[in-house]
Amino acid sequence: MSAGNFYSRFAQVFAANAERTAITSADGALRLSFGDLAHAAARYANALAALGVEAGDRVTVQVEKSPESVFLYLAVMKLGAVYQPLNTAYTAAEVAYFVEDAAPKLIVCDPSRQQEMRALGDQHKVFAVANLDHRGEGSLATLAATMDGRHDTAARDADDLAGLLYTSGTTGRSKGAMITHGNLASNAETLVALWRITSGDRLLHALPVFHVHGLYVALNTAFLAASEIVWFSKFDAAAMLEAMPRATLMMGVPTFYTRLLGEDRLTREACRTMRLFISGSAPLLAETHQAFAARTGHAILERYGMTETGIITSNPYDGERLPGSVGFALPGVAVRINGSQPGVIEVKGPNVFKGYWRMPEKTREDFTEDGYFITGDVGVIDETGRVSIVGRARDLIISGGFNVFPKEIEEVLDALPGVGESAVIGVPHPDFGEGVVAVVTARAPLAPEAEIVAALSRKLARFKVPKRIFEVAELPRNAMGKVQKAALRRRYADCFKPAGRGG
Ligand code: AMP
Repeated sequence: MSAGNFYSRFAQVFAANAERTAITSADGALRLSFGDLAHAAARYANALAALGVEAGDRVTVQVEKSPESVFLYLAVMKLGAVYQPLNTAYTAAEVAYFVEDAAPKLIVCDPSRQQEMRALGDQHKVFAVANLDHRGEGSLATLAATMDGRHDTAARDADDLAGLLYTSGTTGRSKGAMITHGNLASNAETLVALWRITSGDRLLHALPVFHVHGLYVALNTAFLAASEIVWFSKFDAAAMLEAMPRATLMMGVPTFYTRLLGEDRLTREACRTMRLFISGSAPLLAETHQAFAARTGHAILERYGMTETGIITSNPYDGERLPGSVGFALPGVAVRINGSQPGVIEVKGPNVFKGYWRMPEKTREDFTEDGYFITGDVGVIDETGRVSIVGRARDLIISGGFNVFPKEIEEVLDALPGVGESAVIGVPHPDFGEGVVAVVTARAPLAPEAEIVAALSRKLARFKVPKRIFEVAELPRNAMGKVQKAALRRRYADCFKPAGRGG
């Protein structure tokens, strides 16, 4: 009866592999079997039920990464409730918006926030507030320990909600993407087959579990395939290299790879047991791909996805993993560019979410009449179906009426001597509407601004050449390694204002 509930797939795997290792901590101190996972999920589900949570209720979760946070994730699904994870960096004031919008039955927070969350919960008719800390201790764990290890998985349809994941929303209000059991099942099954994930795999897991990458892509595929997870509470390049000789698979954001490259210990020998390195959530520089291949002999497999869609495209397992390309549409997923190239990528398939929570208007706007979701990513698709991403539609700069794609300029900038990384943005300009601005990091002393501009002018049409170049120590990034262009646009918003008008 619980066939549509994605947890029932995990339940089968957990039962068939009860004695085998599901999770080990990176230092080897902790070992959990799949049988342990099944029991913990049942105890936590019973604890949630005791706190009043029923099928369809939202559970807002803002806790540090711990194996117990995974028990909670599994338990919410098992119970047929809706998991709403939040970035641990959000302040209590920010959490207020999500609680008001999602209207959860239960909030699970860090013990240090219990008081604040209880007050917030009282304002928004939240039934219960429980807590869990980074060691997996807290009122929820205490309650779960007293519960029965048996629990009947709730019946759900494939179309029912399993998760409510808020988009990072660098512009405007953050939106809750309604993710169904069917979305999760189709994407995880496809990826297990495509990336050949098996029970022989041991996955290095250092991603946060409040985001689709670490939560759905990594955990769901590992659970379906009965792979072992080598658990890190956070990414640390040295610790990762330490554990690598007992792993076969890694999923990471580009920053993981650049940090690993910063370690002399990253060698072919260090990766001898590794089968596959996967990257996503932000663009992997071709330079990183090439440097990693040269050091380790491994071609990083880059894939592309979104909160709203799960994974959309992937480079092939066999066949060429092309730097700078995100590969081909997954089997069963349709990808197109509507209009001329480069253009906005649209996607349709069983992986695509059900819509934005309580935002029917916004949902209608973001789907085409024939049912494609408009991603907002600008890309090109070649005649073989290979997709490359050029940028975000909202990052497109229109200067003097001309379209400027930041990525094209960033690539030229990155190739200049001394430049580490770059981000190109458009900010208000009195003559051109928007003026092109580059923000760069240096890995060696940079040439003066005028010389960089001159060098760029030899390679780029005049309207594309940044009018100002600012050097910073580091580009602002979010937890997934995405450069926060909105923050840069705010910081340099006044750089073309005539001097003398207010500092
Ligand atoms: P999120 O919903 O936080 O997962 O962010 C999704 C966005 O991340 C996409 O719309 C893309 O803009 C970006 N993204 C994800 N994977 C890639 C990739 N491999 N290359 C470039 N951008 C990516």
